[in-house]
Amino acid sequence: MEVPLARTRITLVVQNTIRLTDHLIRVRLGGPGFASFQPNDRTDAYVKLVFPGADGDTVRTYTVREVDRAAQELAIDFVHHGDEGVAGPWAAAAQPGDTIDLMGPGGAYAPRSDADWHLLAGDESALPAIAAACESLPTDAVGQVFVEVADPADELAFAHPEGVELTWIHRGADEPGVRLATAVRSAPWRDGQVHVFIHGEAQAVMHDLRSYIRKDRGVPADWASISGYWRRGRTEEGFRRWKSELAEREKVTPATL
Ligand SMILES: Cc1cc2nc3c(=O)[nH]c(=O)nc-3n(C[C@H](O)[C@H](O)[C@H](O)COP(=O)(O)OP(=O)(O)OC[C@H]3O[C@@H](n4cnc5c(N)ncnc54)[C@H](O)[C@@H]3O)c2cc1C
Repeated sequence: MEVPLARTRITLVVQNTIRLTDHLIRVRLGGPGFASFQPNDRTDAYVKLVFPGADGDTVRTYTVREVDRAAQELAIDFVHHGDEGVAGPWAAAAQPGDTIDLMGPGGAYAPRSDADWHLLAGDESALPAIAAACESLPTDAVGQVFVEVADPADELAFAHPEGVELTWIHRGADEPGVRLATAVRSAPWRDGQVHVFIHGEAQAVMHDLRSYIRKDRGVPADWASISGYWRRGRTEEGFRRWKSELAEREKVTPATL
């Protein structure tokens, strides 16, 4: 069930940054504003980061990778996808003492304990949420995880139960999500009730995988969290417009996409 986004705007201070892989940067945020941050229990908990600009605020959406209450910090893992954009370049340049405003968290998914098995898939942008979900699973959980990254240098170890098989997919020269979709579609399907979490590049997720999971495999909506996190060739604003247009065509609300 959806936890609506907390609307209080708080200011956090960059504590440190670590380059986790070639394209992933972890930024730890804390400071006095952390006292107003109220975590939820969703493993895909997300915040809206606010970047002020001359023409107004630019808002970007990011997963809360972990919350360290003792240290009064939260961590966000940013894909550094080049010089384009606002949030990626900000993370690459962030220094201790920099500040950032955010609203949140909201969230919609945590692995259901009544599922027989779990299927999680995504690209680097969904890796924080996938890793958080896997870490929360009981040791006897079973399932399959597919993560598509640019190449082997972008693989990032995370804890997962032994019965949850993790497959890394390397994008190579293909467009984002193409190899991920092929891997998910061609994987053996297990018996029993599955709980699905698939997020990443929107075209791959919405067009290639959502219909496979919902229609071909018949997974009901309340057992499937599937949506785009970003769209190739579009800023987050452009992606939101793309979602609204798709929702209009499909006669649903954008929030359900
Ligand atoms: C609920 C939710 C949770 C998310 N969690 C995370 C997270 O934890 N970590 C994370 O990195 N992202 C996450 N994302 C995705 C992130 O919001 C987008 O990637 C966002 O567009 C990045 O903003 P930007 O300012 O860097 O680039 P934008 O200004 O939005 O885009 C500039 C250009 O970069 C391209 N681009 C954007 N993102 C990527 C990417 N990942 N790879 C390659 N090219 C890209 C765009 O297509 C565009 O051409 C999440 C999205 C949602 C909806």
